[in-house]
Amino acid sequence: MTDPRPVFPKGTILGYPRIGRRRELKRAVESHWAGALDAAGLERTAADLRRATRERLAELGLGRDDSSIPESFSFYDQVLDAATTVGALPERFAGLRGPDGEIGLAAYFTAARGVGDNAPLEMTKWFDTNYHYLVPEIGPETVFSLSSDRLVRQVAEAKADGYTVRPVVVGPVTLLALAKATDAAPAGFDPLSRLDDLLPVYTQLLAALRAAGAEWVQLDEPALVSESLPAAPAVLADAASRAYAQLGGSADRPAILVAAGYAQLSPEAWTALAAAPVEALAIDLTRGSVPAGAAGLGDKTLLGGVVDGRNIWRGDLAAAWASLQSLRELGAASVSAGTSTSLQHVPHDVADEASLDPRLASWLAFADQKTAQVVTLARGLADGRDAIDAEVAEASAALSDRRAAPGVSDGAVRARTASLTADDFDRGDYATRVAAQEEALALPVLPTTTIGSFPQTGDIRRARARHGKGELTTEEYEGFLRDEIARVVALQEDIGLDVLVHGEAERNDMVQYFAENLDGFAVTQNGWVQSYGSRATRPSILWGDVSRPAPITVAWSSFAQSLTDKPMKGMLTGPVTILAWSFVRDDQPLAETANQVALALRDEIADLEAAGIGVIQVDEPALRELLPLKKDAQPAYLEWSVDSFRLATAGAAAPTQVHTHLCYSEFDVVIDAIAALDADVTSIEAARSRGEVIGDIRTSGFSHGVGPGVYDIHSPRVPSVGEVADLLDRAVAELPLRQVWVNPDCGLKTRGYDETVESLRNIIEATRATRETV
Ligand code: GLN
Ligand code: ZN
Repeated sequence: MTDPRPVFPKGTILGYPRIGRRRELKRAVESHWAGALDAAGLERTAADLRRATRERLAELGLGRDDSSIPESFSFYDQVLDAATTVGALPERFAGLRGPDGEIGLAAYFTAARGVGDNAPLEMTKWFDTNYHYLVPEIGPETVFSLSSDRLVRQVAEAKADGYTVRPVVVGPVTLLALAKATDAAPAGFDPLSRLDDLLPVYTQLLAALRAAGAEWVQLDEPALVSESLPAAPAVLADAASRAYAQLGGSADRPAILVAAGYAQLSPEAWTALAAAPVEALAIDLTRGSVPAGAAGLGDKTLLGGVVDGRNIWRGDLAAAWASLQSLRELGAASVSAGTSTSLQHVPHDVADEASLDPRLASWLAFADQKTAQVVTLARGLADGRDAIDAEVAEASAALSDRRAAPGVSDGAVRARTASLTADDFDRGDYATRVAAQEEALALPVLPTTTIGSFPQTGDIRRARARHGKGELTTEEYEGFLRDEIARVVALQEDIGLDVLVHGEAERNDMVQYFAENLDGFAVTQNGWVQSYGSRATRPSILWGDVSRPAPITVAWSSFAQSLTDKPMKGMLTGPVTILAWSFVRDDQPLAETANQVALALRDEIADLEAAGIGVIQVDEPALRELLPLKKDAQPAYLEWSVDSFRLATAGAAAPTQVHTHLCYSEFDVVIDAIAALDADVTSIEAARSRGEVIGDIRTSGFSHGVGPGVYDIHSPRVPSVGEVADLLDRAVAELPLRQVWVNPDCGLKTRGYDETVESLRNIIEATRATRETV
């Protein structure tokens, strides 16, 4: 490493949103894909965004030349960036490489999006967040080589602009730990076994970054906090020990910061990193602390992640300060202040929210406000606590104001949750329910249904937007929605489905729609957060005690029911999913908040029943997503999450059939929890894995109704009658006939009408054929 060793800044953030304050990157990338913006134009937009970020961060108080400004831009995903930098592109995309094997922008986007029969990289959740990364594919045949100089060029670009930035790269252990084996790999192949072949490329990358002017590099290693990856913590720690001995040992490199957010570093990983020849370590102090009995850090800098990178609350600076002080006892050479994770999980700027209630806004911190908090703490570390007294006092005052504000605590809501008893969570005997539902619904064997939404057409989006702008009166808009519902109901009758849906045309989003109609929530105008690639979501803010001022879905569902003699399924989003996809208050246990939401839904279910709706689905696609990374935290989570679903649904009478829907097929850890939900019918994803999950359901002894999806709605492909029949054969061969339902994998809102109708007709034809054989 270069001498003298550079000093780590007193404060930094681990990453910044890259989508742009007004989602400029989304627009540019999507118009590039559509052929309306050439690569040079896209590169210019990206360079402008990077410049705007550097300037903004400097304006907020991070230093231009002390490596406190991270360079964390990505066109699509940081894991894909690292994979393409080291040349880990699956064989099926090899033809897209440049003459010297270079992976340019076109190959990069193709790996993300697929082309023809070449499927894109799989996408999955990044730790326990709502961000999705692309899963690298690595096999024995993968040839690692430096294949993109994009990261290096970004450092040089900043340098030319007068900034010494700190490039942020997913580290080698996490890259391999998150990868899956290529199709060509032998069974049981573990990508981590390629670590020794990968390290020389990282060494080369570090040298190139150094040559471009980087004094520090940040290697993100969140795999070292997780207990939910295929590799055990001890195996990951051992890999980290080998990786950082080698990377740290190289002569020509920037100083290394290893960053491990999202939870507490495993004790094994702490020991490995404490002994490694790296210069700084970043840990998450918002979701963990220093492992007990941790070894001293010698002359390393310890970056305390005291500003939460994942929520939008202003936070308690006094507590953050105290927590930084406690780090000093660990004997690190110096302590710096930071965010717990990258700020990619929060929106840009509270100041962009002109229509938020100013009092609520004063309790919030988005990326810019969090950066300012870090800058304040850094000033305290440099100049002493006195220097930041005013800011600490202001933060404490905002917190007390929040605590005392009306709506944050609502006596009636509190009294209701406090008086709950075991009975409120229990629907009673399943066999009794089955008998009552058979009589009430008289469904055929292998009943068919859909998951709720029908295609959200351009017409629907336009009508909603025009209503939002006041160009359509509420009366006109509601008339439009009623026509839409009537069309969808008639279509389902024509296709021959058994349990119908109203199609969800009135919903912009399955969580925001409920947030807009419940007390205790606020919605933002510009609070976008990257979900994956060019897609962003705008999570609602759950800030107060939740209650339901009026029925939400009842008018739509009962209108839909009035149009048909078939059962109409009421459609609600469950409490866990509402929490998972919102920014949730941090001042009380999630379990308490979940029960409040559950009670609001319970009232909605009672009103739906009273309006004659006999089948009600409560979607919980996020149940698995919130599962804590640490094993010892999982039982408590599963208990409150399952309880909140049960609280929402247990008021339903025996003849009312309660459905739930989960968007994935990884039943492993949550199968008992799914059974404990006690829904009468559960629909799950199964088409992509060709019904593999059916075997898991059988062995688990799951005995309620289950609809393994027969139509992969993630692709425009229409499943053939034969294909659906095969899946149904598998289901009826492995499960008792009375259990099996027939449905797509998920809602149809992202699909077009042509493929949807054809697919549903094929499903009905296959079901009719299978019914003859059973
Ligand atoms: N009812 C929702 C729909 O059909 C479910 C969506 C989901 O599970 N993500 O759109
Ligand atoms: Zn789904």
